[in-house]
Amino acid sequence: MIMLESCTSLLVLGLGRSGRAVAASALDRRRFPALERIMIVDEKDTPELRALAKTLDVEVRLGVTSIAEGAHFDLGVLSPGLPPANPLTRSAQRCCDELISELEFAWRIAPATQQWIAITGSNGKTTTTMLTAHLLNAAGRSAAAVGNIGEPVTDIICAGTAVDFLVVEASSFQLEYTTSFAPQAAALLNITADHLDWHGSLENYARAKLKIFAHQRPGALALAWAGDPFYGRVAAPGLVTVSLSEHEAPALYVKEGVLWDGEERICRVDELPIAGEHNILNALFATGLARSAGLTPAQIAAGLTSFTAPPHRLEFVAEVKGVRYIDDSKATNPDSVRAALTAFPPGVVHLLLGGRGKQTPYEDLARAARGKLRAVYLFGEEAPVLATAFPEAAGSYPDLGTAVRAAAGAARPGEVVLLSPACTSFDEFDSYAQRGDFFAELVRGLEER
Ligand code: ADP
Repeated sequence: MIMLESCTSLLVLGLGRSGRAVAASALDRRRFPALERIMIVDEKDTPELRALAKTLDVEVRLGVTSIAEGAHFDLGVLSPGLPPANPLTRSAQRCCDELISELEFAWRIAPATQQWIAITGSNGKTTTTMLTAHLLNAAGRSAAAVGNIGEPVTDIICAGTAVDFLVVEASSFQLEYTTSFAPQAAALLNITADHLDWHGSLENYARAKLKIFAHQRPGALALAWAGDPFYGRVAAPGLVTVSLSEHEAPALYVKEGVLWDGEERICRVDELPIAGEHNILNALFATGLARSAGLTPAQIAAGLTSFTAPPHRLEFVAEVKGVRYIDDSKATNPDSVRAALTAFPPGVVHLLLGGRGKQTPYEDLARAARGKLRAVYLFGEEAPVLATAFPEAAGSYPDLGTAVRAAAGAARPGEVVLLSPACTSFDEFDSYAQRGDFFAELVRGLEER
């Protein structure tokens, strides 16, 4: 492992937020006294990136698709946007003594006394990260929700903002390139098919996620869900199981409508402000993480009930002519849609599915949804692919707007129109948030008619 004090050359791959954070932190001589060279490279070469490069105090090369043969760097830090199979990543692997992610980098530059809580999973990361940080802050600890959720961890460490706990939303991309990251408490929420284009296979993706526990030290907490297909692969000594039904200790579970941490009662399920079975699990995970930070059951119960869910996750938009419209635009893979459906009774949901696909299969979702939905509306680029799994769909539409209008026309009072698309938004929008906002605007348009 490269020691920061002796690192003489650093290659930063990707001029995104995390890359800039890494480069800025490396300019601090106290951290990198031996550093002689920093170079940032990016595959893209756009006027925006050129302008950005001018503002930085380091060597930047744009439009680089491969690092030249013969080049050498002690350490390389990889942007989460670069998959392992990318030629630039491969060439970096060749020319760097060690290639790590920004999360691993942040771990290495952080003070040894820093407490880390890390959360990964295919679905529920943001909700659980926010909920955990909320529980800690509500109980008077200082906690910052960082990582995939927004601010690169490196930035907050460099800013010197002292917090008791860093609550890190860790993506599989960041975990793939960790070699010593050892959070005091870690949660693996679930592993379902997602980002297969990046990782190459479900096995690679699962292996990256399981790395969250790989370097944990004795006494550290490892939380995993009993219902996950990869649960059996969790080898962490500090394993505590999360379950929706009573489970042998050590476990966090639900019994007779109550959340339990072992023998300790936390609160009733119906006191939680977030709906669906998946959110009960998220609440159990956050409870376990907060308990490991020393919070009492009463502090946790108070925090759970005062939480507000983040936007675009089963967010109630409006009720128009007796029909409830719900924005779950953040559901960008099939399993998150399956989870969302658990928040509604059978036979009431008009589901809007579509966008840009990620090569994930839809058969399991179709099976889980069969008989539970009122109707399905397919839209966008992925509609033809979805149509094979959902032959019963009410229609295929070129874009979200036409699909919403069709659903609004068919829905009756007491029913729900749910945008929970199972796909990314990039065929029509810049982000899931923009897609959700557009949906809300359309719904408000219906209200005014
Ligand atoms: P992530 O950050 O992992 O994408 P979010 O908290 O943003 O997760 O939730 C994304 C979507 O995934 C939500 O819209 C919801 O439908 C679904 N979801 C949330 N938690 C879970 C869970 N524990 N299991 C399955 N699906 C979930």
